[in-house]
Amino acid sequence: MKKRALLFLILCLLFANLAFTKPSVSALEITNNEVSINFPDTMTFSASFESDMPISVVELKYGVDALTCGTVIAKAFPQFEPATSVDVEWTWEMKQSGSLPPGATLWWQWRYSDESGAEKVSEKKTITWLDSEHDWQTVTSGYLNLHWYKGDRIFAEDLLATAEEGLKLLAEDAGLVPDYPIHFYIYGDTEDMKDAILYEPTWTGGLAYPSNSIVIIGISGKGDLEWGRDTVKHELTHIVVGHLTFSCLGDVPTWLNEGLAVYNEGELDQNSARQLQDAIDNDELFPLRTLNGGFSEDSIKAHLSYSQSYKVVKYMIEAYGHEKINALFRALRDGTTIDDALTEIYGFDIDGLEAEWREAIHARPQQ
Ligand SMILES: [Zn+2]
Repeated sequence: MKKRALLFLILCLLFANLAFTKPSVSALEITNNEVSINFPDTMTFSASFESDMPISVVELKYGVDALTCGTVIAKAFPQFEPATSVDVEWTWEMKQSGSLPPGATLWWQWRYSDESGAEKVSEKKTITWLDSEHDWQTVTSGYLNLHWYKGDRIFAEDLLATAEEGLKLLAEDAGLVPDYPIHFYIYGDTEDMKDAILYEPTWTGGLAYPSNSIVIIGISGKGDLEWGRDTVKHELTHIVVGHLTFSCLGDVPTWLNEGLAVYNEGELDQNSARQLQDAIDNDELFPLRTLNGGFSEDSIKAHLSYSQSYKVVKYMIEAYGHEKINALFRALRDGTTIDDALTEIYGFDIDGLEAEWREAIHARPQQ
């Protein structure tokens, strides 16, 4: 036994020695790896590499944490002259790619190799796409995160409590319960919010980015708080509905999506309620089918579209309960058309729903 043990030891030493004297492993390494944000226009990735052989390939892979159809990985190949020490830089121009929502999480990774054939991949790093000019603070409750910079903590906690209430209502009314973080970025006013995104939205209340689970809203202080609370609940609904129904197959009709969002805000305000009642009395309601797509650019018509959608969704929830509307969203996600999904779950298509709803609210039947 002893002899064998000794032989084993010798063999071990021999192999160990072999390992140490193996031809040199490439000294390829990344020595610097940074991103600088020039919000909201560009983001510049920079890195330095060293090796004992000339570095021949440098590739940047990057992406955004978001729901996507399939895997989306972008690649960039910064220009450089092969050498044993290289610095590279590559700039992502948001104007060309379309801007990201403030608060989006980005990841990146470098793949690099030298002429010995050695190849390495840097560890995945992440950064939040956000401006540094505002002193962002955060309050959190469960999956809800609210970021703000203007106004006191009470202001932020008020909006967070509103979002909590909105979540409770979504669970009760539509069986919608998110199990992922949702982020609200509250800008100090609409102008600040517009500065943070590169395009001019046609309507500047709040914006929901369901695939990123991010909401941005411009709320100018306490005078705007009532409106801000409604908007928090409204946009929260779009996140939760958008997340549940996200697929590469389906589509949620605008009246259903907006109707639930307005329903989640609470009762209609007096003006909206009056406008809706006038439309009912004067037989000026829109055929429901025409509200499947985008709403009118005309603000009065758009306003009525929201209120009418609210009234339809309110009827669906109150007459048929939250299980059915939840099943409807799931069927739409799976690619079922709205008519087939309604027929399957409620026993009527859009026209049948409209007829029943008009009767319930004492409107004239659709012509
Ligand atoms: Zn909306």
